[in-house]
Amino acid sequence: MMHRRVSVLGATGSVGSSTLALMDEAERAGTARFTVAALTGGRNIERLAEAARRWRPELVVTVWPELKADLEHALAGTGIAVAAGEAALIEAALQPADWIMAAIVGVAGLKSTWAAAGTGAIVGLANKESLVCCGPALMARATTAGGRILPVDSEHSAIHQVFPHERPEGVRKLVLTASGGPFRQTPASELEHVTPERAVAHPNWSMGAKISVDSATLANKGLEMIEAAWLFSMPEAKIDVVVHPESIIHSLVECVDGSTLAQMGPPDMRTPIAYALAWPKRMPWQAPPLDMVSLGRLTFEAPDTERFPALTLARQALRAGGAAPAIFNAANEVAALAFLDRRLAFLNIAAVIADTLEMASASDLVGGSGDACEAALAVDQEARRLARICLDRREQAA
Ligand code: NAD
Ligand code: MG
Repeated sequence: MMHRRVSVLGATGSVGSSTLALMDEAERAGTARFTVAALTGGRNIERLAEAARRWRPELVVTVWPELKADLEHALAGTGIAVAAGEAALIEAALQPADWIMAAIVGVAGLKSTWAAAGTGAIVGLANKESLVCCGPALMARATTAGGRILPVDSEHSAIHQVFPHERPEGVRKLVLTASGGPFRQTPASELEHVTPERAVAHPNWSMGAKISVDSATLANKGLEMIEAAWLFSMPEAKIDVVVHPESIIHSLVECVDGSTLAQMGPPDMRTPIAYALAWPKRMPWQAPPLDMVSLGRLTFEAPDTERFPALTLARQALRAGGAAPAIFNAANEVAALAFLDRRLAFLNIAAVIADTLEMASASDLVGGSGDACEAALAVDQEARRLARICLDRREQAA
């Protein structure tokens, strides 16, 4: 039976909760056993405490120091060690474990993902933003430490599952599928006025708020293009995106001999999470079957880069290299959160990203001294500052 020592960073989020639910299901079915080293969360203390009571980790961390007393109170008498703050988050990532789920959202997850990758553990990577900012260095860090990064993002899990790892030269192209998001068929004139509520109502996937906005702008697919480039050492020109509204084919690998390999399944994050959790084996769970007959047909279309320019901006950032992917990511994070706060119109998300990339190229942004993680964080901070200037300008113009 599989027995793993696991930590979950971002245990209270959409991906983190699904990870714990899968682990719970496997233990109940008697197919696997898990020892939990550390769990981390943010503001949802109730959910974090509930997970801690179930899994009895050696350490539980909320990143918010002002919530430490609440967490202590919720776990009083359990004997579970509680800590709070940024340093505690890193401590959680450094707890000895075989497998670490990096499921914090945004650049807030970079330092802990970087720390986890340095331990030699297998890192299940949901936190795509950290890979976008710091990709080649993060991949190298995991390998040097004797571990590896395994993608949890469904598209990259799909590619990982069909990629000819022993003969990568046989690959001609990666094709990422995109659902097209909630506004796939929304006319440009209407996009101007869409609300956060409409943007987070994704047709196929149930996810955290930030990635839901990213899916609506297609910035998510842009981040995923960059993520794929670093995970599979592929140049930008060899990564395509195709819109596939049913989200059944999760991505494809096209080989030089004309063979194209695809991975399929119902749109459920538990499948890519289970794949990463059990790798190199497979773990059973009550996965819904793929019913091809009731699906009837699968459809595909080209992405509309006029209505969704964030995809093109990501491609340009990947092609430019250097700090550009981290700048794209920072500007997108600032703009997506401003949209969620109703401080920015939907169409201005991409506009702020474009403005920021332009402003940053003029100011020749590079990271300061220190390791690649510190450098990426320095770029991120400066890019955020520029993004907020661009955001203010767009707001005033509106
Ligand atoms: P979420 O918002 O549901 O959860 C985020 C987690 O991060 C929570 O545990 C929260 O407490 C924690 N967190 C938030 N801010 C933090 C901070 N400043 N410091 C430390 N922890 C913080 O997000 P999610 O949808 O689970 O997404 C997590 C990551 O996985 C993202 O990078 C996302 O792009 C990626 N991802 C998610 C899905 C999905 O289906 N939800 C699919 C693919 C990839
Ligand atoms: Mg994805």
